Order: sequence, then C-alpha cells, then structure tokens
Amino acid sequence: MRARIASAGPLTVAQYMAEALGHPQLGYYMGRDPLGRDGDFITAPEITQVFGELLGLWCLDYWRCLGSPDPFILVEAGPGRGTLMADAIRAAALDPDFLATAQIYLVETSPALRGLQEEVLRDHEVTWVESLDHIAGEAPLLLLANEFLDALPVRQFQRADDGWRERLVGLAPEAGSFCFCLDDRPVSLPHVLNTPEIMQAPPGAIAETCPAATAFVSQLAARLGRHGGAALMVDYGHTRSATGDTLQALHGHRPCAVFEEPGAVDITAHVDFAALAAAALAAGAHVHGPRPQGAFLRELGIEARTARLAETVPEEARQLLESGCRRLISRDEMGVLFKTLAITGAPQPVPAGY
Ligand code: SAH
Repeated sequence: MRARIASAGPLTVAQYMAEALGHPQLGYYMGRDPLGRDGDFITAPEITQVFGELLGLWCLDYWRCLGSPDPFILVEAGPGRGTLMADAIRAAALDPDFLATAQIYLVETSPALRGLQEEVLRDHEVTWVESLDHIAGEAPLLLLANEFLDALPVRQFQRADDGWRERLVGLAPEAGSFCFCLDDRPVSLPHVLNTPEIMQAPPGAIAETCPAATAFVSQLAARLGRHGGAALMVDYGHTRSATGDTLQALHGHRPCAVFEEPGAVDITAHVDFAALAAAALAAGAHVHGPRPQGAFLRELGIEARTARLAETVPEEARQLLESGCRRLISRDEMGVLFKTLAITGAPQPVPAGY
C-alpha cells in the first residue's frame, strides 16, 4: 500500500480497509482465526450456544410461516468459525423436514475460516460461495448474518470550509507511516447521507457510508422480494444516520490505531442501520426494526432457554451460560449497542421478535 500511495496517490479509507482485511495473502481475515479468547474479539455465538439456537429457531419459525417451502435456501454471511450455523442447525433439527429441505450456503472469503467451518459442519451438506450472486435458484431464502456488515469497507467524508471532502489515507513525510488526509476537491455527499443533521454539520465533522453493505442489502432485498424469505442482520451500530468517526481497530481484545500493522489487526466500523433499511425498502422489500439485541433476544426466549440448559450442566458451565446470557442482553454490554434488523420479501408474516 505504501508503494501504491507513493506512485499513485492516497487511497480512500474503503480501499485501505478492503486491502488490510481482504488482501488474498496478507489480509487480516485470510490466514487466521481472529475469534475467541486467544484472538482479537469475541462474538455472540462464541459467548453462548443459545444465540445460534435462537436464530436457528427464528429461521424454522419463519419457514413454517411461509408454508414450509421445499426446497429453500439457508444462508449465513460471514460465518466465522461456523459456530452460529452449527448451533442453529442443531436447534432447528427439532423439525427434521426443515433440514431435509434446506440447501445450506455459507458466504465466506477467508480460506482459513472456511477450513474451520468445514470441520464444524462436516455432517452437513454445505456449499461455500464468495458472494450472494453465486447462490443460484429461485427458492425462498433465509439468511443470517452476525457481525458481518461491520467488516465491510467504509468511505469517510469530512466537512471542510468549502463543503465535504473524501477522507483519504496518505503517507506522512516522516518514516513513511500512514496518515489521514483530505481529497483536493470537494465532493457531493452520497445520497444516503443527505439528512438535515449531516448537511448542517460543522467543519471537521466526519460522515461515513458503507457502499459494500448497501450493495449487499440491496441485492438481498431484491431477491427476497422476487422469491420470498427473510434475513436477519445483527451488528453494532446506530439507528439514525449521523456524523461521527466509527472506524476502529482491535488487537488482542484491545483498541489500537487503525494504521497499526495493517493485516494483523481487526478493523471495523459501526453499521448505519438507517442506510441499510432505506436500501432494503428501495429494493422493494420490507423491514422490521432495527430493535436492540437485548429486547429481541428476550422476546425469543433467551432467559428461559438459558435457565433450562443451566439445570442440566455442572456449576462452572451454569455460570458461563448465565453470564453469557447477561452479556448479550444487558444494556451496559451488548444489549443496546447491538441491534437486529430483519428484511422480508412480503409485509406478512412479521418475523418473530418484531
Ligand atoms: N459471524 C461470525 C464471524 C464474524 S467475523 C460470528 O459471529 O462469530 C466476520 C466474518 O465475515 C468472517 O467469517 C470473515 O471472514 C467474513 N468476511 C469478512 N469480509 C467478507 C466479505 N467481503 N465477504 C464474505 N465474508 C466476509
């Protein structure tokens, strides 16, 4: 990237993030398992098995509401270690017809994580694809995505005295380290950011868009509108588009600078749920939520399921289940910062939890 910037000029923030996370050999996700205690971050399905179980039952419930279509497509985008899908399948096996009818797809770009998923899901027939367009057929689709959209590259814009300019990644004169700079020319903000609050922001304010997330949701929504089905997206983010720099990097569960060792640290940005909902509506689908993760999971029965499981395990495992449940739903932890947005092809039925 340094050589590229030196010869062709600064990169956009999205180009930097895409390269740091997704470079085929050196990208952060490509060669490692970033999850868990020994990794850089931990996610809901790794905290408690109940998360994946409830999402699996959410799919089963919606499939039945649709009249148990045969075949249907069950997809997870960004499946990490495969834990969520394994827990979802185990719970949804309550109805053997559901699994017998499902064509399972995982949207994954990382060879390392795909290897882990193959192991965890070895008893099931699964097809791996790099993007949604590789999922053929006209069957109804059910899709889950947890902490997938936050990993997609964002563009940033900064308010200057003469309008908005794209924020870029250049090289600092000393030691050739990366630094932020602004494009020479003003640009008009992407349409999704044209809210009164953003338009009136003072000089220095930063606004973000995630074109890859919007494109993913538009494509998904169009497909749900055509062939039916539902998608559930869970992530951290905001319900209204607003100004703010949410680009962040993590290494060993600690925040670090976004320019520290690209390829070796996790880089994410908060999800703009308002922009995603708008993209889904524009593509002809219906949206439900976003709802805070805590309220959504409570309505799906996380406390009852946790209590039931806890009765059957030794004391240490019981404590882990209970603290895991609290972590996912409490307002001071993941209960409010994380949100769930559902997209359906038709206005009815309304999916569970909304
Ligand atoms: N959903 C999992 C993992 C979240 S980490 C969990 O909750 O534990 C993000 C996941 O998205 C990883 O599996 C990563 O390899 C995948 N990913 C990142 N960018 C991607 C892209 N552009 N296309 C497909 N998968 C991607």
